[in-house]
Amino acid sequence: MARVAVGGFQHETNTFSPIKAAYADFEAPDAWPGLTRGGALFDAVAGMNLPAAGFVQEARGLHHELLPLSWCSAQPSGHVTRDAFERIAAMLLDDLRAHGGIDAVYLDLHGAMVAEHLDDADGEILRRVRDLVGAGVPVVASLDFHANISRQMARCATALVSYRTYPHVDMADCGARAARVLHDLLRGTQVASYLEQVDFLIPLTSQSTLAEPLQSLMREAESAERPPLLSLCLAPGFPAADVADCGPSVYACGSDVFVLTTTVRQVAGELRRREHEFALELYTIEQAVAELTRVDAPRGHPIILADTQDNPGAGGNADTMGLIKALVARGVRGVLAGVICDPDAAARAHAAGEGARIEVRLGARSGTIGDTPLDASFKVAALGDGRFTGTGPFYHGARFELGPMALLEVDGMRIAVASRKQQAADQAMFRHLRIEPADHAVLALKSSVHFRADFGSMASRILVVEAPGPNIANPAKLPFTRLRPGMRTSPWRGSSSPHR
Ligand SMILES: [Zn+2]
Repeated sequence: MARVAVGGFQHETNTFSPIKAAYADFEAPDAWPGLTRGGALFDAVAGMNLPAAGFVQEARGLHHELLPLSWCSAQPSGHVTRDAFERIAAMLLDDLRAHGGIDAVYLDLHGAMVAEHLDDADGEILRRVRDLVGAGVPVVASLDFHANISRQMARCATALVSYRTYPHVDMADCGARAARVLHDLLRGTQVASYLEQVDFLIPLTSQSTLAEPLQSLMREAESAERPPLLSLCLAPGFPAADVADCGPSVYACGSDVFVLTTTVRQVAGELRRREHEFALELYTIEQAVAELTRVDAPRGHPIILADTQDNPGAGGNADTMGLIKALVARGVRGVLAGVICDPDAAARAHAAGEGARIEVRLGARSGTIGDTPLDASFKVAALGDGRFTGTGPFYHGARFELGPMALLEVDGMRIAVASRKQQAADQAMFRHLRIEPADHAVLALKSSVHFRADFGSMASRILVVEAPGPNIANPAKLPFTRLRPGMRTSPWRGSSSPHR
């Protein structure tokens, strides 16, 4: 039995978003717990699809003594403030110091956090932890699928373990894998690590592991993770990050340097060989509406419009109205849209009561250029307190706290409204307002890919729409200045990679 310190600090930073993540954003619960320190941490994450939850369960099964640090996350946004980063990092380090005499450290990190003063914030956390515990203590971190893995992260952690699915249905499972890796390290396995960064950015909507090429690439990467390798990460990266380490990478750690370097090179080579398969398929609003008017969705199988550029799971604010207004203007019927973040509209609906009519200027609160509210008279069709539990494979067990919610109806369209932003990736977000998504002809969802976990099987078609929003779907349109030399901002479209 070993004494293992357990903590977490997760943020996915879209450096192009002007809205920063402050300390209060990490304190507030959303789908996942707010900042939790000490013994309450283990109960706070229990039963959720979170790496820390999977780690705790597995490590307890392996009979280790777990010592809590702190755990927190905030919605993806612009830079983490220096204040938030330094306060939370100090909390982790202070608690680690206070426990004293620990045998190992586990951290639940994202891997694409950028702070105001640190381009590689996750690497900096790992560096500080390594400096504190010394060279001999295993430090294992689990990372998101969208981690932009840096050399500092690879050097300062003993082992990194990352998710293999997008939608991320294996977050808890990844934590459990990290626990098994840490267990092996505690039994004395000596490891080295190797990282290879790949030189083209992959758009988020081309990264789903439910589709090619990542479906088979990830399967191959998973099967390559076998002794003498302890871990192999194929991380497609988070592209909306203007930092030198932005981009896909392949990482491995294991006891045989030759095997781990050749395996990493092989997996990275296969990723490069299939670069052209990552090319984007986006619809303009006009093209999407034309598709809707051309074909009818079969009953129970809506056409899903992924409003990816306003996905709050990637730095959007869930309040742009471009797509919704176009659907209203063109008289498309049977639409369910959401979830729009507009606390004022939700409060107005609650004050008026179910069945009432309210005049609201809905959405467009965050100031996305060219976006305007939907100015209309809405019927308040349902109200909710925003507290419910996730039921889909991605948000499974998540205890949502979205503040007052309302279902507003206008011209044959239903719009779910919440007081806090949250990616529309779980049917429970709509069922909380007593409606079934499958009963609609069209779903317009504020999500890029995660919605596919719970909505994918009902969809007759999925169209990814390039409507106004801050989460630019095509990385080639982003004003990068800090990528490493030679980095290409979109996948090569030719039939073979420019490397060959
Ligand atoms: Zn992710």
